[in-house]
Amino acid sequence: MNNPVSIIPQPGYLTTGAGVFTLNADTRIIAPAAAARVAEQFAAWLRVPTSLPLPVETQSGGTAAEPNTITLMFTQGGEFGREGYGLQVTPGAAAIRATDINGLMHGAQTLRQLLPVEAESRSAASGVEWVIPEVTIEDEPRFGWRGLHLDVGRHFFPAAYIKKFLDTMALHKFNVFHWHLTEDQGWRVEIKRYSELIEVGAWRDASPYPADRYTLDNTPHGGFYTQEEVRDIVAYAQALGITIVPEIEMPGHAVAALASYPELGCVGRDYKVRTYWGIAEDVFCAGNPEVYTFLENVLDEVLALFPGEYIHIGGDECPKVRWKACPKCQALMQREGLADEHELQSYFIRHFERYLNERGRRLIGWDEILEGGLAPNATVMSWRGAKGGIEAASAGHDVVMTPNTYCYFDYYQSEDHSAEPPTIGGYIPLEKVYAFDPTEGIPADKTAHVLGGQGNIWTEYMPTTEIVEYMAFPRAAAMAEVLWSDPTTRDYADFLRRLRPFLQRLDSLGVTCRNPF
Ligand SMILES: [Zn+2]
Repeated sequence: MNNPVSIIPQPGYLTTGAGVFTLNADTRIIAPAAAARVAEQFAAWLRVPTSLPLPVETQSGGTAAEPNTITLMFTQGGEFGREGYGLQVTPGAAAIRATDINGLMHGAQTLRQLLPVEAESRSAASGVEWVIPEVTIEDEPRFGWRGLHLDVGRHFFPAAYIKKFLDTMALHKFNVFHWHLTEDQGWRVEIKRYSELIEVGAWRDASPYPADRYTLDNTPHGGFYTQEEVRDIVAYAQALGITIVPEIEMPGHAVAALASYPELGCVGRDYKVRTYWGIAEDVFCAGNPEVYTFLENVLDEVLALFPGEYIHIGGDECPKVRWKACPKCQALMQREGLADEHELQSYFIRHFERYLNERGRRLIGWDEILEGGLAPNATVMSWRGAKGGIEAASAGHDVVMTPNTYCYFDYYQSEDHSAEPPTIGGYIPLEKVYAFDPTEGIPADKTAHVLGGQGNIWTEYMPTTEIVEYMAFPRAAAMAEVLWSDPTTRDYADFLRRLRPFLQRLDSLGVTCRNPF
């Protein structure tokens, strides 16, 4: 019996035939040595539910699939763009072709979705025929930045969960994990040179109740990732075709760091890791040379952990009240001829852009980094609507679009709030995410500056991983399709048709997604 073909995100070109390829005890997986890890990964997904051996054989130079094999192969000559792939399933064999290894990974994710949903089961499924329908698919992403963001500052989620989150991202063909690692309410990454960051900064005394943001639960909360865990997670993500963009917030959202090292703030004392949500007035002192040294040393360790090109430095929500009253900040402004505190923030960000650029990395920050003058090579992540992104792209800067009108997965997803867990507010239903266009409002000759977009998951109101997943999925599926698929073929009704079996897959994988039906 043929499975109806439903793939998310929708492939660019897809035709189906009448035949099927049925996996059996003799089916082998063949890959060149350079793609063996994708083949092993694919086999690992399927061995438990199918109870089939699915041995992986490495072979170089294969150009066509042998009978009863799933063959992975690299193609020459740019047949597919970056991350693109071709997938051919004929009665009796399947072949995935790609130019790069991440293309093969995406092809494997598509092939996975062609199998019965029981293929996602984490235990042996009995009585299932492991049939793959005959298809020809040619597919490549619309955007090179297809991200999900996760705030682990407001609530900490352990390393094992981060891996599950990455697995779920990979099924959606996301390729950027924006890991929001530092906050007023918690510092989450071990920095060996500054041990207080995890001894003090990773812990807070209490959190507000989700249903009442003005009352504290008096329950200590915290946690952090060791550098060993981070390295393990970075490698894990890389094997799934995902780059991690770490975020180290500066100059605002820094109270956990100030509680650890009070001399880094303008006031210099009496800081506590923040327990309430909202924006803190205490920020790094921009007039103190020790702050620059501290953050450079922190970044040195961060750069050693994260090999990706981009480092996110936050830059958002930095009140200027402390800087206005600080002799050090004011003296620096005078010395450098800075007209106001916005220019001081710009001076601060430019310093760290230079620091990162000299080390071969690129700086990305929230759209407030436009205020007071944008650092020359900075990439802007537009969140307060699309305005900042339009402005930056028009000025020739690269942008990642994450407007809070489409991309904030901490907002409500139905109008009946009583049926939903408490949230920070807002309303972005699934259909709204699906209507997102990252290039909307960008001048036609500047759209190449739009690297892509991402869904942002701020976790003030998400104390558990179950709630994170309820908020993230399936809105992430709509986002994935927006960022991967050809916008001219977008069809919400068809997306919903394909979403039903996709939700069954997520459910089998233990993802507690919201059911929109
Ligand atoms: Zn200061």
